[in-house]
Amino acid sequence: MGITIDDMSVFCKRKGFVYPNSEVYGGMSGFFDYGPLGVELKNSIKAEWWKTHVTQRDDIVGIDGSIITNPKVWVASGHVESFTDVMLKCSKCGNSVRADHLVEEKLKIHAEGLSPQKLHELIEKNKIKCEKCKSEFDKPKNFNMMFSTTVGPSSDEKSVSYLRPETAQLMFANFKLVQENARMKLPFGIAQVGKAFRNEISPRDFLFRCREFEQMEIEYFVNPEKGEDCPYVEEFSAYELNVLSEPMQEKKEKPKKMAVNEIIAKKIMLPWHAYWLAFEQKWFEGLGADKEKFRVRQHMKDERSHYATDTWDLEYSFPFGWKELQGISNRGDFDLKQHIKVSGKDLSYYDEGSKKKVIPNVVAEPSLGVERSFLVFMFNAYEDDKKRGNIVLKLHPKLAPVKVAVFPLLSNKDELVKKAREVYDSLKKCYQCAYDTSGSIGRRYARNDEIGTLLGCTIDFDSLKDESVTLRDRDSTKQIRVKIEDLKCVVGKLIKGEKFESLGKLI
Ligand code: ATP
Repeated sequence: MGITIDDMSVFCKRKGFVYPNSEVYGGMSGFFDYGPLGVELKNSIKAEWWKTHVTQRDDIVGIDGSIITNPKVWVASGHVESFTDVMLKCSKCGNSVRADHLVEEKLKIHAEGLSPQKLHELIEKNKIKCEKCKSEFDKPKNFNMMFSTTVGPSSDEKSVSYLRPETAQLMFANFKLVQENARMKLPFGIAQVGKAFRNEISPRDFLFRCREFEQMEIEYFVNPEKGEDCPYVEEFSAYELNVLSEPMQEKKEKPKKMAVNEIIAKKIMLPWHAYWLAFEQKWFEGLGADKEKFRVRQHMKDERSHYATDTWDLEYSFPFGWKELQGISNRGDFDLKQHIKVSGKDLSYYDEGSKKKVIPNVVAEPSLGVERSFLVFMFNAYEDDKKRGNIVLKLHPKLAPVKVAVFPLLSNKDELVKKAREVYDSLKKCYQCAYDTSGSIGRRYARNDEIGTLLGCTIDFDSLKDESVTLRDRDSTKQIRVKIEDLKCVVGKLIKGEKFESLGKLI
């Protein structure tokens, strides 16, 4: 039995990963602050995502749009009118909850996307009451989740704008500029990483549902006349996904493992959709996540957002159940058409082949939360090692917030301390390092295991003679002897994926 989400939040606070926001003032629900280790892990997740989704691809370029934008963007996108969840407010104590979540919890049915009317019927029929005071709820109503603010000195209606609830929209509004500046040809994507804000009715499950979070998103545009051709899908043809389609859910079937080529042949999803789901799952797998804990679930008709023609979620088996980690929607030409309509500007694409202007389709919009990814990597890494008597946080080498902790064997021997500082000062120019002198070496190993430090590097009396150090591997506790001049190279090789044992003679 693994740890719960509450245990994880306690662990994250204790070790300096994540704190409740402004805790000295009693905190604020749905907001969190990242501590010294958390910020390193979060930055590494974003850097790895950017590397594989932008830097290493020819067909995707990035932007960094502003958080507050002309409010017409949100009128065009439909968020002002329909970015809502259904809220239930207790008639007596005022407790507010998200109606679909409460119904799902109580009746064990899928309720996301149901109308306030339908949810009201279910609540009445099943006599669902406020969990806090057992009173009845008022009639459910739609609640818009966008945070609003006023821009400039006057605070009248005209100065109202919103904190973006997703990063997506500026990738549409800037589509033409980006396409022309970067000379992109369809199919191509625009990527963005940044903050998003949602006034969630009831934030919960630690980082899983917060009010301020970050997204890593791509809008992937294709020529509408060549919508189904995905030139990259071959690479994944044998790759397996654990599939739960809409018909399978209606028939209450279990998810089924299928190779990408079978999924496409059976027309369960379009090739682009299968490609992006496989690409995204593989990204997690490449950073050490357990493939068995993922599945891909199709949205039911009621559940789909207003813009989507088809949506599949990449879900992860969290300790509190299967939950959405990433949504991948087919948005068609909804957004570009809306921005053309509302702005009056031409955002079409000139196809040189057919000499025609087209409105590109977004066949897939991989949209991933940084916080939910953070949780996946933390749950995956957390291991209570009874034999060692401490937690070992087996984060992937690329994600480990500290790569090397440098220890002088004895902290009261000047010559050892001097040498250890030299090693540390040199290594920290290349990698995140720590310098630790307190307690026994065993205690220092344990302390570093708990925060996921990849390597312990001990400077002993022999180091003064042979210019070598002992490197200790976090996961296996094996040790090798390495020349100080080779250290940077050895650490680099380990981060790139070489086996610890192959990097030096075991001692
Ligand atoms: P949910 O159904 O869980 O509310 P959603 O379908 O509204 O999520 P999307 O609009 O598809 O979410 O957003 C894309 C991604 O952004 C999600 O898959 C998730 O990883 C992340 N995300 C969305 N809302 C939150 C939130 N409140 N807290 C943390 N991450 C979030």
